[in-house]
Amino acid sequence: MKDTTRLVRVGLPEPPEKVAAGDPIHPGPIFASAYATPGDPSESAYTYARFHNPTWDELEHALGALEGGIVRIFPSGMAAVMAVFAAVLHPGDTIVLPSDCYYTTRILTREFLASFGITARLAATADNAQGKLLEGANLLWLETPSNPTMDICNIRLLSDAAHRAGALVAVDNTTPTALGQKPLSLGADISVASDTKSLTGHSDLLLGHVAVSDPELNAKIDRWRTLSGSVVGPMEAWLAMRSLATLPLRLEKQSNNAQGIAEFLESHKVVRSVNYPGLKSHPAHALAREQMRYFGPVVSFDLVHRSTAERFLKASNLLVEATSFGGIVSSAERRARWGHDAVSEGFIRLSAGCEDLEDLLADLDQALTASGAN
Ligand code: PLP
Repeated sequence: MKDTTRLVRVGLPEPPEKVAAGDPIHPGPIFASAYATPGDPSESAYTYARFHNPTWDELEHALGALEGGIVRIFPSGMAAVMAVFAAVLHPGDTIVLPSDCYYTTRILTREFLASFGITARLAATADNAQGKLLEGANLLWLETPSNPTMDICNIRLLSDAAHRAGALVAVDNTTPTALGQKPLSLGADISVASDTKSLTGHSDLLLGHVAVSDPELNAKIDRWRTLSGSVVGPMEAWLAMRSLATLPLRLEKQSNNAQGIAEFLESHKVVRSVNYPGLKSHPAHALAREQMRYFGPVVSFDLVHRSTAERFLKASNLLVEATSFGGIVSSAERRARWGHDAVSEGFIRLSAGCEDLEDLLADLDQALTASGAN
C-alpha cells in the first residue's frame, strides 16, 4: 500500500477487518489516566497514562509505517530531540552538529549537554562539511534541509562515514516530513521531527516524534519518555492523526506553491538571493532530487535591508507574520529578529501554505513593490 492510502486511512481497522456496523468510521481519542488493572499488572494491556495510551499507539503505528521504523511520540519537537540526546549520549561523548541547524537544538547542547560533559563540534550543512569532524564522535546530528537557509547534505554519504567512525546518525527531518524524505531508508539510525510543522499542518498543535530501526534503541527512547514524563495528551495525538490523513494533499500543494514562489522571487531583480532545494540554481539541487520526494513549504530569501523586509511583511495581505512553518496558511517572518541565525537583517523565511498560487504571487508582487525594494 502506498503512503497516501495508508495516511488517508489512519486509525481505521486494517483490511480485511471492517468497521463494525454502527461503529463510528473514525474512532475518537481514548482519555484515561488509569486503567482497570486487576492482579498482575503485566496481564493488562494498559495500566497508567505515563506508560502508554491506545491513541498514541494508533498514531505511532501510522508514523512508523511512514518512516519505515519504530516510532515514539513526544509533546514537542524539542522533547523528541532531547529524548534522542538522553538515550544516546553519555558523559565524555561528542556530538557533531550543524552550525546552521534550528537554533534551539544548538542552544540546548550549549546550555545543558555541555554541563553533562558532552562536547559539541559544529560545521555547516552545505558541502557535507560535518563529515570532516567525525573522528571519535558518538552522534552525528544532521538537519537537511537546514532551517532557515535550506542547505542540503548527503544523508547516505554522511551516514556511511559516521558508521565507519563508530557514530550513530540522527536526522532532524522536520521540514520535509517523512512523506518528503525518509532518513532511515537513506542510512540514518534515527529520524526525529517537530510535528508542530507540516506533519500536523494547522498551526494548532505542538508535537514531535522519534523513529528508529533498532528495537533496543527504541526501548531506550521509550524508557526516557516513561521516566521523564515527556508525554503527549490523547487529544493532541488524535488531532495529529486527523491531520495526518491530509498530509499528502497539503504537502504536495505547499511544495508546488513554494516552488512557484521561489521561481518568482528568483526572477525578481530586487531579491538578492533565494534558497529553495527545488530551484535548479540551488547548489545541491541534484542531491535534493535524489533524496527528497517533496522539497517542502519553506523558501528563504534576502531583501538585504531590515526596513525593506519589514515594509514587505507589512504590505502583504496573504502572509501572516509569524514564526514556525508548515501550516495551511502562508506565513513569513524576518528571521534576524530572533538573533540566533547567521542571516542578514533583511532575510525572510517564508512558509508556503495551501492558497491558490496565482493569488500568492500577485500578493508577493504588490508587497515587494510596496516595500520600496523596486
Ligand atoms: N527542529 C526544527 C528544524 C524546527 O524548526 C523546530 C521548531 O521550529 C524544532 C526542531 C523544535 O520543534 P518544537 O517547536 O515542536 O519543539
